[in-house]
Amino acid sequence: MGQVERRSGGCLCGAVRFEVSLPEAAYNICHCERCRKWSGGPLMAVHCLGDVTFEKDADLRWYQGTPWAQRGFCGACGSSLFWRLADDPEALLIVAADALDRSDDLVLQRHIYIDAKPDRYDFAGDHPRATEAEVMAEIAAATGGA
Ligand SMILES: [Zn+2]
Ligand SMILES: [Zn+2]
Repeated sequence: MGQVERRSGGCLCGAVRFEVSLPEAAYNICHCERCRKWSGGPLMAVHCLGDVTFEKDADLRWYQGTPWAQRGFCGACGSSLFWRLADDPEALLIVAADALDRSDDLVLQRHIYIDAKPDRYDFAGDHPRATEAEVMAEIAAATGGA
């Protein structure tokens, strides 16, 4: 794990502008149905700390589609931006990789919900691939719950 780094980002129209802390210059790709529906394809996202700050957020909206998660987007241009836990929104912030102003150096860490990936696309490389059950087990272990 490297040094925590601060990066700026924003939506397509610029109505939402923010800064987040990246513990690692890395991203995951989620293939779950909810992420694909929300963003129009597999979601490339960076795990950030919960200490997001906003330069502009008047158009930021949160959509809660499940009891446990909220998805942040720009109400003006529709850009998919954030994912956070509903009951602990400051624990972490998952940020769409290309919402960041600088994303060229991000390294692909792994694929998640690989068992939800449709057959019509594939990514090259042999990065780790975790199933939904494996991801859920990791979350349960990390939160001490079941
Ligand atoms: Zn916008
Ligand atoms: Zn997902």
